[in-house]
Amino acid sequence: MRVDVHTHVWPESIAGTVLEYMERDMGIAAISKNTVESVKAHMRESGVDKSVVLGVVQRADQVRRANDWLIGIQDEMLVPFGAMHPDLEDKAAEVQRLRQNGIKGIKLHPVLNSFYPDDPKMFPVYEEMGDSMTLEIHSGRLPGAKPGETVFAAPERIMNVVRQFPKLKVIALHLGGFYMLDEAERELIGKENVLIDTTWPPSLKEVGAETLTTIIRKHGSHKVCFGTDFPLASQAAEGEYIQGLPLSDADKEGILGENARMLIGL
Ligand SMILES: [Zn+2]
Repeated sequence: MRVDVHTHVWPESIAGTVLEYMERDMGIAAISKNTVESVKAHMRESGVDKSVVLGVVQRADQVRRANDWLIGIQDEMLVPFGAMHPDLEDKAAEVQRLRQNGIKGIKLHPVLNSFYPDDPKMFPVYEEMGDSMTLEIHSGRLPGAKPGETVFAAPERIMNVVRQFPKLKVIALHLGGFYMLDEAERELIGKENVLIDTTWPPSLKEVGAETLTTIIRKHGSHKVCFGTDFPLASQAAEGEYIQGLPLSDADKEGILGENARMLIGL
């Protein structure tokens, strides 16, 4: 089974506007539209069976509405993860509501929502998730971060959560540290109870085969999941890049889907 653990799609009515912001913030041109229809077409072309769709919101008052929509798009191909915001009042209740409606995980974006993941105000989320739901968390910076900017999602912060909640199923996105690979290698890579994903838009080529292979070997290929940030990168191209790495076929099968299937329960 091929699984992409990291995609972003939106309701038709706002998809165009969101994509403009996304392209501007990331400085990356999208390869496709960011709608349910377009991700499914891209998955069929790319041979991907399931895509995790990550909920992202700007404000706390958008959480429930976003999650209602995410709950509604679940099917054989799409596995939505709920959105969460640090200022939402009863966070545990929202996690519970998501679980009761079939949602298998939560996405956190500490950079976009300006919070530290190891802030105790987030603990009710982790406690409620227990060992049944999967947490995907942006790790590292965003492209174009300015020097001196607060680093909300440093690999060390993610590891504070992992150590405090060892049963929590965590995927630290962007190889454990977007634009912070040195710190990721020091603080997170090779550690237990945390997986990483391969999302590196616009292309894993920027990381390079040698560095990527070193990180995968050091962390353990059974703890690495394929991700793309679709529509900012192509599932077909990124999948091919991983296929070309000097790893065993079994390792590649794991990375391209089996690890995610087992962790998330697909
Ligand atoms: Zn993303």
